[in-house]
Amino acid sequence: MTPKIAVFPGSFDPITIGHVEIVKRALPLFDQIYVAIGVNSQKKYLFSLEQRIEWLKTVFGKEPKVIVDHFENLTAHYCLRIGAKYLIRGLRNASDFDYEKTISQLNSIVGNGIDTIFLISEPGYSHISSTIVREIIIGGGDATPFLPAEVKIEILKGFPR
Ligand code: ADP
Repeated sequence: MTPKIAVFPGSFDPITIGHVEIVKRALPLFDQIYVAIGVNSQKKYLFSLEQRIEWLKTVFGKEPKVIVDHFENLTAHYCLRIGAKYLIRGLRNASDFDYEKTISQLNSIVGNGIDTIFLISEPGYSHISSTIVREIIIGGGDATPFLPAEVKIEILKGFPR
């Protein structure tokens, strides 16, 4: 049987416990999950690509089904290249849904029928986002409650890179 391969794409700037929760629930559904950082040269990130990859590798290092990777340009083309027929996305609220619906339809066209599998965040996780975590860090607060135990970000060390 052909292995079921999925991509969980994101910026992971930084990875949060919200991301980890989605991957954990997606693991029983697939044979292999590429947790892949989409690199957009127009976008400004708080953390470097190397740092974000390192955190992903630390968090998922012991999970044999997970491959950490990164890609440029279109997510659908990346899926075609690695043979993934599924995308995984998390849904926190209605605005996530409105945005993701259009993107998933586009990915289906550009990616020759790629299906996006949506997982609704567990109760207690829908307020967590990388954006909020970045704001806490930039404001000098402690983002630890939102970060996987393996991710240590020191408080107020200037803007971490
Ligand atoms: P992007 O820039 O592509 O939105 P993110 O790293 O912010 O990348 O998010 C990647 C994926 O993880 C998205 O599908 C997002 O909805 C999902 N996600 C992030 N945080 C949560 C959460 N707390 N609960 C469920 N899904 C989440």
